Amino acid sequence: MDKDIATPVRTRAILKKYGFSFKKSLGQNFLIDTNILKKIVSFAGLTDESGAIEIGPGIGALTEQLARTAKKVVAFEIDQRLLPILKDTLSPYPNVKIIHQDVLKADIQSVMEDEFNDAGNVMVVANLPYYVTTPIIMKLLEEHLPIRGIVCMLQKEVADRISAQPGTKDYGSLSIAIQYYTEAETVMIVPKTVFVPQPNVDSAVIRLIKRDKPAVSVKDETFFFQVTKASFAQRRKTLLNNLTSQLPDGKQKKADILAALAACEIDPARRGETLSLEEFARLSNALYPHFQ
Ligand code: SAM
Repeated sequence: MDKDIATPVRTRAILKKYGFSFKKSLGQNFLIDTNILKKIVSFAGLTDESGAIEIGPGIGALTEQLARTAKKVVAFEIDQRLLPILKDTLSPYPNVKIIHQDVLKADIQSVMEDEFNDAGNVMVVANLPYYVTTPIIMKLLEEHLPIRGIVCMLQKEVADRISAQPGTKDYGSLSIAIQYYTEAETVMIVPKTVFVPQPNVDSAVIRLIKRDKPAVSVKDETFFFQVTKASFAQRRKTLLNNLTSQLPDGKQKKADILAALAACEIDPARRGETLSLEEFARLSNALYPHFQ
């Protein structure tokens, strides 16, 4: 087997050979710890029948570990300067395809149709660029792609918000949006020392396994998310205050909002952070007819 890309010595040699300089604006913090990489891959539960989608392969540290475990790996990389490097470092792995594209602009659905005929057994596995973690995760979930789930490294602070439970300071519209689609858990906390260059913040790995159907049943997904965002607009305000000031024509519709809260037996003086997913679903379903 070839020497791992992610050892500090080999990474340094690759960077030097190509005169590569990191772009902070692209969230380039590369992993240089093979054990951490192997753990990330093991959390994804891949077999030699699985497909893997990677976002941001860098110089191929994680890609290599995925290629050794999965049947096929498709990786989206935005930085053109990395393409010749990846061609070189990943040359021993014919089961890897690199797509030079901003993942936020990619038609992942059609890439999956072309590259993976066994949809449903595909995991997204990535050490995400930290400047766009939330948009990337939301895109993967909102597009209802036929993936089994996502295992990714991201800022610990965002991981805390994603897996937060009601009544905690981290619980908010991001926790709800992600827990609506997936079962979310933080599986590993990662020290800064395993990256070059070292990021300014602590990191964590989360695992999101898609639910067969969303956690709660809502009449309109867009409106449900609008209600949850409105409810957290100002955390110290009451639910009633946030809903009247944030929903369209909320002030004029105060009586309707109060009626909906009463119908759901939710006290208007509660704060958004105390409501469970189930309560938010009931509330948005009761409000929905008034905001058509
Ligand atoms: N996977 C490598 C590793 O673990 O060492 C690199 C991870 S680094 C945190 C993030 C990678 O994402 C970089 O290679 C960066 O160029 C790439 N990237 C940044 N923004 C991107 C985007 N919008 N679409 C695709 N790749 C992106």
